[in-house]
Amino acid sequence: MKCAGSIDARMRDEVSINLDPIQVGGRLTPEAMKAMISWGDGYSVCDNCKKPFRLDYIENPPLKDFHAELAEWLGMAQARTVPGARRAFQQVAGTYVEKGDPVLIGSLAHYTSYLSVEIQKGIVREIPKTSDNHITAEAAAQRIEDVITEFKCPPKLLYIDHVDYQFGNMHDVKGIIKAAHQYDVPVLYNGVYTVGIMPVNNKDIGADFIVGSGHKSMAAPAPSGVLAATEERAEEVFRTTKMEGDLTGRKFGIKEVGIIGCSLMGAPIVGMLASFPAVKERVNHFEEELANSKIIVDALKSIDGTKILSEYPRKHTLTRVDTSGSFDVVAQTHKKRGFFLSSALSKKGITGIIAGATKVWKFNTYGMTKKQAEYVADTYLEIAETNGLTIN
Ligand SMILES: *Cc1c(COP(=O)(O)O)cnc(C)c1O
Repeated sequence: MKCAGSIDARMRDEVSINLDPIQVGGRLTPEAMKAMISWGDGYSVCDNCKKPFRLDYIENPPLKDFHAELAEWLGMAQARTVPGARRAFQQVAGTYVEKGDPVLIGSLAHYTSYLSVEIQKGIVREIPKTSDNHITAEAAAQRIEDVITEFKCPPKLLYIDHVDYQFGNMHDVKGIIKAAHQYDVPVLYNGVYTVGIMPVNNKDIGADFIVGSGHKSMAAPAPSGVLAATEERAEEVFRTTKMEGDLTGRKFGIKEVGIIGCSLMGAPIVGMLASFPAVKERVNHFEEELANSKIIVDALKSIDGTKILSEYPRKHTLTRVDTSGSFDVVAQTHKKRGFFLSSALSKKGITGIIAGATKVWKFNTYGMTKKQAEYVADTYLEIAETNGLTIN
């Protein structure tokens, strides 16, 4: 089936169980799909844009209320939508970082964190991970001291992932923020794997900024995301324009500089809005998601030679596993080589794992039913048994 010309109609989650770490939290709700069709035209949300002509003041569709609710939901003073978490990093770095300024980043961070500092010509210093792959408050404090020694000033910002994308491990954000605040370092809480997945409230966290990704974890179309800030930081990061044309004397009202006026329009923002009630509800059921995840993690763990590289017991549905001592041993002599695993999974309707990967790989069980989790677990065990591996 084609959408148009040579563009296929995409069939993935309709026909299979998807384990793709970056896709499962972003899958649209039916409400978002309908909103996309209805509001997909470029500047559709501008139909009812009135003075002061800003996206977060539009009342129909209810974007004004949405912004207020987003902020309240995250326990922050203010929130704005952004085209992806990376644009939130850029907006924050753009506010605080100048050429040569140091920024401290957890060493498990995503490349976009680094690049958001690079675009400002800032300098990244990393917080090392422990041998069990955690970023600790102690390590953060030590690295702040190191930065002070090297740069004669504390870092301009500190970025920390609550749950990192490499292991899906949960880090002591509260402790790290406390340490950073002792040096007056503002902290960006990266919630791309938590906001929209589990309850996140700054009343319990104490960050200066909370960043979420709409298309990764809020059942929203790409590109979308959220940047929320405390009252004090909101004044800085959401500052309004002071620019004036030298010939014309033109001024631009209360347009915000960091996002160049208005951010999300059309399908991304109305899709995000349409999914929001479901997203607010689903974060209250994360325990069920973890229980489903455990069914699959424990099945993999029982295959002789398999190691769970993420912290265990699991606190998140994204897990990194090492099957060098199990599935990769099979791959050495299998006629399909490393592709035997993805091929066997595919035959059973399971998708989302990098084809050919049999050593170290990641999967995310978010959004499954218990029945689907049991089916995936049984499938892995069956593939292991068929290929002569021992189940403990
Ligand atoms: C995916 C990811 C990002 C980027 O998110 P976008 O919304 O696509 O910009 C940033 N940080 C981490 C840890 C991620 O996993």
